[in-house]
Amino acid sequence: MILGVIADDFTGATDVASMLVRAGMHTVQVLGVPGGELPAADAVVIALKTRTIAPADAVAQSLAALAALRAAGARQIYFKYCSTFDSTPQGNIGPVTDALMAALGADFTIACPAFPENGRTVFRGHLFVGDALLSDSGMRHHPLTPMTDANLVRVLQAQTAQTVGLLRHDVIDAGVPTAQDRIAQLRAEGVKIAVADAVSNAHLLTLADACAELPLLTAGSGVALGLPPAYARRGWFAPNANAAELERLQGPAAVVSGSCSEATNAQVARWMAAGRATLKIDPLALHEGRQTADAVLAQATQTLAQGPVLIYATATPESVRAVQQALGVQASGDAVEHALAHVAQGLVQAGVRRLVVAGGETSGAVVQALGVRQLRIGAAICPGVPWTQSTLPGKGEAVQLALKSGNFGGVDFFAQALQQAGVAL
Ligand code: ADP
Repeated sequence: MILGVIADDFTGATDVASMLVRAGMHTVQVLGVPGGELPAADAVVIALKTRTIAPADAVAQSLAALAALRAAGARQIYFKYCSTFDSTPQGNIGPVTDALMAALGADFTIACPAFPENGRTVFRGHLFVGDALLSDSGMRHHPLTPMTDANLVRVLQAQTAQTVGLLRHDVIDAGVPTAQDRIAQLRAEGVKIAVADAVSNAHLLTLADACAELPLLTAGSGVALGLPPAYARRGWFAPNANAAELERLQGPAAVVSGSCSEATNAQVARWMAAGRATLKIDPLALHEGRQTADAVLAQATQTLAQGPVLIYATATPESVRAVQQALGVQASGDAVEHALAHVAQGLVQAGVRRLVVAGGETSGAVVQALGVRQLRIGAAICPGVPWTQSTLPGKGEAVQLALKSGNFGGVDFFAQALQQAGVAL
């Protein structure tokens, strides 16, 4: 293993894994702190859920992930957080970075959430979302991690006792040797973590090359784009043109949708408009016993031979609000997730080998119900959403999953995903 990544949330992990595959690295994503040995791959991404938990818990889980990655021989460690630097005044970016540095004996690292392709740029230490400063973007209203200061040096300094500095864009513009000289100078000045500017992909490539031999990097997913070429230049591995290739699986296919985002509502509507098979989960009917997950599963299983079926709870915001008022927010969410996960599990038992899941929480519930702990990352269907392949516990059969978080994907996403996996529609 060359690169070991510790990601602070699930979709962020998939995002960075997808980036590494795109640049030619065989990559496996592991869900949660690994129980046993890690799989063989160029890169392993451990998906944690530590963004907003208590700092001490985030540190403990990150250190456990680090121990597994080091035991598997990772040359470099990458702490992946969100491209909007989502954190609270307590952390967890600072505390986790401090703990990883201490464990690795690292006296210097960078912090760079920039991802210019997605409109996240860092200039003179300030993070922009599109044309707006982070503090003027929608992130200032985030329910869990409101970001009200765009000056990342200041934001990070509030989370760590180590000295935070700045690696400015003009130094990065000047190329790898100049950037490395500046890093040596910052180190000599006692800077332990440097917020790094990047307003273009070229900056990310230079930065990754200048930092490829640091024991630890901390960043969004953007910097990962530059690492495979930097490793290849050092002769550590040869980029593999087939890194994204998964097996061609046979057997029925299905879509399960629990996301109620605008994008998913449009995707469900498009699937129906094309006259394809659907089954609806109605939370109120479930609650009143007029519908059961088993009955939906039985119906869905019957239609599989005719082609892929979509099982959805996806509904408009008004309809979701009405259900939440009747049943409670948590209870309605849990009931729908449980029903969809049960249906997904039953479908896979009935032979489904290619399954598209819409919704972040829904994906979590489905993956858990299937008992899947590792995802081999394949080709992207749209930015941030790759096909993945897992081995089912027990019989050891393969299943391919496309796990889409809410707002991702174009209106034809479901059909596009299935066709990409070789499903005839
Ligand atoms: P997203 O990625 O779009 O946020 P999630 O799956 O993370 O999607 O979250 C959607 C939540 O809404 C889940 O908890 C799901 O169970 C719940 N949900 C889905 N359909 C309905 C519905 N019709 N009424 C109420 N809640 C629903």
